[in-house]
Amino acid sequence: MIKNAYLAGVYAGVEKRNPGEKEFLQAVREVLESLEAVCEKHPEYEANGVLERMVEPERFIQFRVSWVDDAGKVQVNRGFRVQFNSAIGPYKGGLRLHPSVNASVIKFLGFEQVFKNSLTGLPMGGGKGGSDFDPKGKSDGEIMRFCQSFMTELSKHIGQFTDVPAGDIGVGAREIGYMYGQYKRLRNEFTGVLTGKGLKWGGSLARTEATGFGLCYFTQEALQCMRGESFAGKTVVVSGSGNVAIYACQKAAELGGKVVAMSDSNGFVHDPEGIDLALVKQIKEVRRGRISEYVKGRPSASYTEGCAGIWGIPCDIALPCATQNEINGESAKLLVKNGCKVVCEGANMPSTPEAIEVYLANGVLYGPAKATNAGGVAVSGLEMSQNSLRLAWTFEEVDGRLKEIMKNIFHNAYNASKECGVEGNLMVGANAAGFIKVADAMVAQGIAY
Ligand code: NDP
Repeated sequence: MIKNAYLAGVYAGVEKRNPGEKEFLQAVREVLESLEAVCEKHPEYEANGVLERMVEPERFIQFRVSWVDDAGKVQVNRGFRVQFNSAIGPYKGGLRLHPSVNASVIKFLGFEQVFKNSLTGLPMGGGKGGSDFDPKGKSDGEIMRFCQSFMTELSKHIGQFTDVPAGDIGVGAREIGYMYGQYKRLRNEFTGVLTGKGLKWGGSLARTEATGFGLCYFTQEALQCMRGESFAGKTVVVSGSGNVAIYACQKAAELGGKVVAMSDSNGFVHDPEGIDLALVKQIKEVRRGRISEYVKGRPSASYTEGCAGIWGIPCDIALPCATQNEINGESAKLLVKNGCKVVCEGANMPSTPEAIEVYLANGVLYGPAKATNAGGVAVSGLEMSQNSLRLAWTFEEVDGRLKEIMKNIFHNAYNASKECGVEGNLMVGANAAGFIKVADAMVAQGIAY
């Protein structure tokens, strides 16, 4: 419920202008609901129409991506890039390749990215992009031709000082390589226009690990400050088995937790003896296989078809790292019933509004995605810095900076929650802290009539 009249009016306008875009509306609503105290304290935001401007992307680009498959048949996909807000820096945000990608998904991700990037403390605006192309089952040649065609159009809209995309679901080192190669071919320039690049051609050490590691650094700091606890001895469930999930699993185990379950879009594995991450990496990173293959090498593990069942496994800490809306109200209730006390989000918006209500009503330590998974974009920002300096920092240096950034994000969100009168509500705190910096920049930069 949005009580503040100004914010309620802004939301009504967003609903009218973006009919049927349920993910985008969900993301906007959550942020607006969190900003009542901030807007009451800062009438200048309403006077400057900050919220009306913030919910409307600066630019939304949709384009045709045609490519030829291995059978010689022409295929057509839809490409997107949303350049949401550039008040504090060039647009920055990942590219997602998944059949579920549409305008609503891209706009929700771009909107969230604005606040997340602001929370990192680095000078980055918010953007996001992708395509409804499904990389599953495609050959290397098909992936390459798709990525080249996608970049042929995207290259007209991005640049190291304008918009710097990165990876997301379905876009890892291979896809970034094909896209970067095409950009370079078209522009004849070697610049830091994409992040997540290979280490031999401008990438940053620790970028691959950054989102998962950052999630655990945040969780550890929150546990310590809010509960006087740590990962040590805790049972952890991690959903997904992609980039974020794998490195969240690794760091949670390094910090003393025992990860007992992981999943993919087909099902989940439960291994009460603790997930063998080397085996998961072999299946997912090397063979690009399915998580179901895990049980072949591990007699202690069982596999279950379907994703939602993973939330029925008893745990102390849940780290959803797969996709949006993967925990609904029912799953959240099950987590709480089985003793889960901490939910920190690796994926973007993995909890439905009903799930969040359950966390807050039951005193679960809830770390919202825009704060908890900001480590990926933070190290992307550090990759941009290294590219500009034409230097490469060591793993330890980047990892050390990541740790500091994640700790600062926690403290900024926690302090903001106190200022908003809801101490410990990190969702309100993260939204408020991320928002104020961007809002002040927008006020300072004026309105173009
Ligand atoms: P990957 O493509 O590497 O992995 C995604 C994982 O989630 C896979 O295990 C995939 O299973 C599973 N998955 C994808 N879609 C669904 C679905 N609809 N239902 C169930 N499972 C699904 O992506 P990332 O690890 O990079 O991204 C995961 C999440 O983290 C996303 O929400 C992303 O936006 C977010 N994120 C990622 C960042 C990064 O640095 N990579 C930074 C910040 C946020 P399958 O293999 O079967 O498709």
